[in-house]
Amino acid sequence: MVKKILIANRGEIALRILRACKELGIKTVAVYSKADENLKHVGLADEAVCIGPSNSTDSYLNIPAVISAAEITDVDAIHPGYGFLAENADFAEAVEESGFIFIGPTAATIREMGDKVSAINAMRTAGIPCVPGSNGALGHDGDVNIEIAKTIGLPVIIKAAGGGGGRGMRVVREERDLLNAIAMTRTEAEAAFGNSHVYMEKFLDHPRHIEFQVLGDGKGNAIHLGERDCSTQRRHQKVIEEAPAPGITEEQRTQIGERCVAACKELSYRGAGTFEFLFQDGEFYFIEMNTRIQVEHPVTEMITGVDLVKEQILIAAGEPLHYQQKDIVFKGHAIECRINAEDSKTFLPSPGVINLYHAPGGPGIRVDTHIYNNYRVPPYYDSMIGKIISYGETREIAIARMNNALDEMIIEGIKTNIALHQSVLNDPEFIRGGNNIHYLEKKLGIAK
Ligand code: ADP
Repeated sequence: MVKKILIANRGEIALRILRACKELGIKTVAVYSKADENLKHVGLADEAVCIGPSNSTDSYLNIPAVISAAEITDVDAIHPGYGFLAENADFAEAVEESGFIFIGPTAATIREMGDKVSAINAMRTAGIPCVPGSNGALGHDGDVNIEIAKTIGLPVIIKAAGGGGGRGMRVVREERDLLNAIAMTRTEAEAAFGNSHVYMEKFLDHPRHIEFQVLGDGKGNAIHLGERDCSTQRRHQKVIEEAPAPGITEEQRTQIGERCVAACKELSYRGAGTFEFLFQDGEFYFIEMNTRIQVEHPVTEMITGVDLVKEQILIAAGEPLHYQQKDIVFKGHAIECRINAEDSKTFLPSPGVINLYHAPGGPGIRVDTHIYNNYRVPPYYDSMIGKIISYGETREIAIARMNNALDEMIIEGIKTNIALHQSVLNDPEFIRGGNNIHYLEKKLGIAK
């Protein structure tokens, strides 16, 4: 049984995990950097341990410091949240070798899915549709690589096997640029990810980003919880997410969802996970799997009624899945706006003291945030300071409620991207739904 959990994260997700633990009657240990002693969940946790200086390399990414904190507080399990160490197979291994439960998949699964070439190979074997591509890492024979590109058809995209966060990708439109692009991506990938393997995919020019949420118990049982549309992006970073994805039919959902479930069963997948797809001209193409809880998990929770973080913990505690596929019923529509401490136009980060905070409310509004009056947003971490999630029986109602919430939310002292959300939520193109991943950048380009 899990009686005490260390939360190896900060901000809103640390608070989200703390809330799930409290609901389950599980004690909590917060770990924090020097810059974060005033975080809300640090005050609410049963115990709190400072694990290092403000710089995340020396605190939230410091594996020995996190493990030591777990040892001195005698926890049973560690929840990594998202980002930081959440998809670090070495961390998962260190956690389990030290005798703690890692709340997530096995280190072997994290490692396999963390290398995009091996992830794609595993998915293709499991019957998941993938982007036409090189089917493996590219070799060093230029003629062979040109042949591969010709077979796939230009334009192509060269991607780093170890890439992440939208980095390590290069689009090639002309054959003459191909070999140089491969060489450059390889050099960058080696420097940034310590892995020089690169691969080639067909470049899809107007895809939507649609992802499927899954839960597996590590014993061969798995379910899917439908899809989320995360196409509203800037620089490959998600800004607004929603569920279900506009225009996706029940049949498409079931077909792709069932394939994801079959892949999870094959992998004996343990925990929460996300299959990310590009969707273009009616076809789904797998791009990668995330082996953790995601920022946008609440939209799925709102339309299914499943508490994904609680399920993660219960699975880690060794319980079988509490749901069968037939129990998952989709109802209504949910939208999430990520609230960032940044300028709405320049996107420059805006850390500092929040001298007035007023949360929105009303029917169908959920706010996941760690901020409060006089909280100081530190400059060292991601600029996301919270999320507003709106729910409605229909997409129209969810949009109307989100508009109310954005109007009601007051954050003074720092700049936020609330105005950007307001302009998107009132844009007839967004209201229509089903935009591709270029929508927001095009809108911003026109707005400039
Ligand atoms: P990361 O792990 O860095 O997030 P992904 O493989 O998930 O990388 O891709 C991130 C984004 O890059 C996608 O959401 C999409 O916008 C773009 N992208 C990736 N692969 C392709 C492709 N084959 N064609 C077009 N765009 C792509």
